[in-house]
Amino acid sequence: MRKQLTMLAMATALCVSCDKGKEADVAFNYTSENFADIQMLRYEVKGFDELTLDQKKLVYYLQEAALQGRDILFDQNGRHNLVIRKMLETVYTDYQGDKTTEEWANFVTYTKRVWFSSGIHHHYSADKFQPGFSEEFFREALASVDTDKLPLAEGQTLAELCDEVFPAIFDPTVMPKRVNQADGQDLVLTSASNYYDDVTQAEAEAFYNNLKDPNDATPVMYGMNSRLVKEDGKLVEKVWHTDGLYGEALSKVVYWLEKALTVAENDEQKAVIEKLIKYYRSGSLEDFDDYCIAWVNDLDSHIDFVNGFTESYGDPLGMKASWESIVNFKDVEATKRTQTISDNAQWFEDNSPMDNRFKKETVKGVTAKVITAAILAGDLYPSTAIGINLPNSNWIRSAHGSKSVTIGNLTEAYNMAALGNGFNEEFVYSDEERRLIEQYDALTGDLHTDLHECLGHGSGKLLPGVDPDALKAHGSTIEETRADLFGLYYIGDPKMVELGLLPNAEAYKAEYYGQMMNGLMTQLVRIEPGATVEEAHMRNRQLIARWAYEHGKADNVIELVKRDGKTFVKINDYEKLRALFGELLAEVQRIKSEGDYEAGRQLVEQYAVQVDQELHREILDRYAALNLAPYKGFINPVYTAITDAEGNITDVTLSYDESYDAQMLRYSTDYATLPYRN
Ligand code: ZN
Repeated sequence: MRKQLTMLAMATALCVSCDKGKEADVAFNYTSENFADIQMLRYEVKGFDELTLDQKKLVYYLQEAALQGRDILFDQNGRHNLVIRKMLETVYTDYQGDKTTEEWANFVTYTKRVWFSSGIHHHYSADKFQPGFSEEFFREALASVDTDKLPLAEGQTLAELCDEVFPAIFDPTVMPKRVNQADGQDLVLTSASNYYDDVTQAEAEAFYNNLKDPNDATPVMYGMNSRLVKEDGKLVEKVWHTDGLYGEALSKVVYWLEKALTVAENDEQKAVIEKLIKYYRSGSLEDFDDYCIAWVNDLDSHIDFVNGFTESYGDPLGMKASWESIVNFKDVEATKRTQTISDNAQWFEDNSPMDNRFKKETVKGVTAKVITAAILAGDLYPSTAIGINLPNSNWIRSAHGSKSVTIGNLTEAYNMAALGNGFNEEFVYSDEERRLIEQYDALTGDLHTDLHECLGHGSGKLLPGVDPDALKAHGSTIEETRADLFGLYYIGDPKMVELGLLPNAEAYKAEYYGQMMNGLMTQLVRIEPGATVEEAHMRNRQLIARWAYEHGKADNVIELVKRDGKTFVKINDYEKLRALFGELLAEVQRIKSEGDYEAGRQLVEQYAVQVDQELHREILDRYAALNLAPYKGFINPVYTAITDAEGNITDVTLSYDESYDAQMLRYSTDYATLPYRN
C-alpha cells in the first residue's frame, strides 16, 4: 500500500524550523523539464558516499535488478505498449523530416507521456491520451526510418503493423481506460490493462472465489502474479515466473539478485534475497508469502529493497499486482521520529475511536523508518509514492507485522522544487492559514505519512471469516481512507506534543487545513473538466473532505467562502473537525472489519466520485494562471561501477546529469528484456 503526495504538499514552501530543510543542499538541481501536465524532478541520494564498498555494491546490484523489470510494467499496462514504445522511440531518434512543426512537437510530447506512464494511458487518471499528431504524420514518419528497427511481427509489413496498433493510439473508443472503476459496468472487459484476456468480470470473480477456502487462516494472495486467460473455453492462469510469462525479464532480475546475495549485509538479508529468487523461479504464492515473512523480519540491514509484483491499483478487481522496485537505505537520524511512533503503536491502537471488536489485542512488529531512495523502477518510476507499507497480505500483517517507510529524500525534493511557486497565495484562505502551513506543513506532512503507513494500514483487524476482498472494487479507496483518517485523527491528538513529535498544540492545524483544501478543491486540478474522480487516493481524500464538510454543516465546522468570485476553504472549528475524523474512522473501520460492501459502496459513490462542475472550472482556471504542473516524476541518478583490471568492482559512483529522454532511451536499450508481444 502506498501514500501519494497531495497537491498541497507539492506546493508548500519549506519551513524555516524544519531540520530537513536546513540540511537541504541548495546547490543541488531539483528541477528538470516540463511537458504536458508533468514536471520532472531529481532527487539526491544523500549518504551514498558514506556507504562501505560492499554496501555500494549491494545498491548497485539491486538497482540493476530493479531496472531489469521495466518492460514488465509496460506490458501489464496494455498489450500494445511495448510495440508502441518501440515505434515511437525509433521515430524519436531516427526521424529526418522537419522538426520545426507543431506536429513534431506534439509527437515529442506524446512520446514523453508514454514513457512517463509506462503506456498509452495517463498514469493517474488511467484515461488514454489523445495524440496531437495525425495518423498520416506517424505513418509517413515510420516509413522514413529503417524498417529493421521497427517491432514487426514475423512476416508483418509496416502497413500491417500500423493496422495492429493505430486504433489503440488514435481511436478514442478503443481501450479508452486502463482501469475502469465505473459502477455497474463489466470492469474487466472495459479495462485496457493486460491482466485478463477474453474474460468477463463475473468469470474472473467466480474463478477466484472458487479457489478461496473460508477456513484457511493463511490464504495466499490468489491471482496476484498471473494473467487470467481463456484457452479452449477454459480459464487458466499464465503465471509470471522465470519459466513462465515474463520469464525473460525475471531471469535477468534473478541474475542481479544472485550477485546481490554475494554482498548481503547479514544472514537475514541473505534469506530475503534467496527466498525472493526461489519465488521468482517457482511462481508459487506460498513461496511469495515465505519471502514476505523473511522481509518483514529483516530489520537490522541498512540497505533494503522492494522488488516484485506488489500493488494492485492497476487491476479493476484489485488482485493482480504490478511490478515495481525501490532500493533504499535508512536515514538514521530521521528514523528516530518513526521509531517513537512504532514504539507507541499499541497505545494508538487501544485509544483509537474504532469499536473494540475491531482492534488488535496485540499490535505486532509495526516497524517504521525514514529511508533514502537510491533507485525507483517499475510502477514507482517516474511517478512515485512518498510512503510505502508492505507486505499487503492481511494474515502476514496480523501474524508477522509490516514494514512502513517514509521516503525522505523524495518529499524533500518535492518541497524544494515547490519553493515560492504561488500556489498557497492563490488557494489558501488567509495569512493565518498560510502562516500555519509555512511553519508546520513540511513537518506535519511527513508525520501524517508516517502515521498513515506505520499505524493506519497496520491498525484494526477483520472479523473472523471476513473475506479480505469483500469490498471488491472499492477496497483500495476504503483502505486508503482508513489509513488517512487514522493519521488525521492522531495528528491532532495531544499525544503528538507529549511524544515530542509536534512542537505545540496548533501545528496539526496545518495538516487539517491542507487536507480539507486538497480534498474539497485543489486536487481537482488533476482531472479533466467533466470527468469524475477515479483514482483510489484521490477518491479517499475527497471522501474524507466531503463527508466532514457535510456532517459538520450543522455546527458550521467548515465553510466554503466566496471572495471576489473565488472559493476558499475556511475551517471554523478544528477540534470538532477532529471529532468528525474520528467518527468517520470508526465507521470505515466497521465497513472494513465486517466486509460491508454495500455501505462501502455508498460512502464512495456519495462522497468520493462526483465533482461540482462549476467549482472544478473555477479551480482549473485559477490553477492554469499559475502555470504549474499538477504531476511530478523523478529522473533516476546513474550508477557506474568502477572496476579494476580483473573486473572487480572497486567503487560505485553516482551522477545526476542524465536528461529525461536520454534516460528513457538508455533504459529501453539496456533493459529491453521482453519480446514486444507477450
Ligand atoms: Zn496507503
